[in-house]
Amino acid sequence: MLRSENVSKEFFMRKGLYGGTKISALSNVSVSVREKEILGIVGASGSGKSTLAKIMVLLYRPTSGRIIYNDSDVSNIAGRRLKKYREDVQMVFQDPYASLDPFHSVEWHIKRPLIISRYRGNIDGRVDELLEMVKLDPPVYFKNKYPNQISGGQRQRVYIARVLALDPKIIIADEPVSMLDVSLRIEILDLFSKIRDEFGIGIVYITHDLNTVSMITDRIYVLKNGVVVEEGSTEDVLANPREDYTRKLIEAAPDPYKRL
Ligand code: ADP
Ligand code: MG
Repeated sequence: MLRSENVSKEFFMRKGLYGGTKISALSNVSVSVREKEILGIVGASGSGKSTLAKIMVLLYRPTSGRIIYNDSDVSNIAGRRLKKYREDVQMVFQDPYASLDPFHSVEWHIKRPLIISRYRGNIDGRVDELLEMVKLDPPVYFKNKYPNQISGGQRQRVYIARVLALDPKIIIADEPVSMLDVSLRIEILDLFSKIRDEFGIGIVYITHDLNTVSMITDRIYVLKNGVVVEEGSTEDVLANPREDYTRKLIEAAPDPYKRL
C-alpha cells in the first residue's frame, strides 16, 4: 500500500560544530506497509526512525529514492494531492502534550480537522463517535476539558481521535507510548490494535522497545545507522535474530509485562 524505494536522506549542516558537513540519516531504505497490517520499525536512538517516518508522511522529501502509495510515485506531489495524501497517511507523535494546543478544549481539537476538510455530516455527532472510538467515554465528560486537565494517556487518545477524524488509511506512530507510564502503554497499544482490527487502518509502529513490538506488530524492520539490517515476521526475527545489533536491542528492552 505504501512503500519506500531505496530512500536516502542527507542533512546538510550549515552551522555549528558540524558546519559544512553532510549527515547521512538514511541510506537506501526500502520498507513496505501492507494493507491492514501493523508494521514495526525498530532501532536505537539516532538510527533514522523519525526521519523515515517524516519522509513517509512527506514532511521531509527524500534526497534520493521514491515513496510509492497505491502504486503511484508521491515523492514530489504538492497542492491538493499532498493535502489528500496527508489525510490518508497521518502521523502520531511521541509527546501528546506538545501535539495538543493548551489553550483549546478536547472538542476543539477534534472538530478542527472536520471543519477544515468541510465534513458534510453532523459534526457534533461525529465528535462524540470519535471520542467513543478512542474510549474517551462518556464524550460529554471529555469535550470541555483542556489538555492539562487530562492524563498523558488520555491526551494521546485525543490526538488519535483527531487523526481518525479524517479517515486515514495508514497511521504512522513514532514512539507513541514512550512518554507514558508503563501501565498506560498497553492500553494505547491495544487501541492501535483495535483501530486496525475494526477499521482496517494500517499502522506503522516505531519504537526502540522490542517488548512492545512483540505485542502488536505482524512484521518488523530493524534500522541501524540509517540502514535496514534485518526484516521479517516479528516472531521469526525476535526468536532468531541474525544480527548482533538486534540481539542487543532485545536484551536492552525492559520487560515489566508479565506474560500469563
Ligand atoms: P531516531 O528517530 O531513530 O532517533 P532520527 O531520524 O531522529 O533517529 O535521526 C537520525 C540521524 O539524523 C541522527 O544522526 C540525527 O542527528 C540526524 N538528523 C535527524 N534530523 C535532522 C535534521 N533536521 N538536521 C540534521 N540532522 C538530523
Ligand atoms: Mg525518533
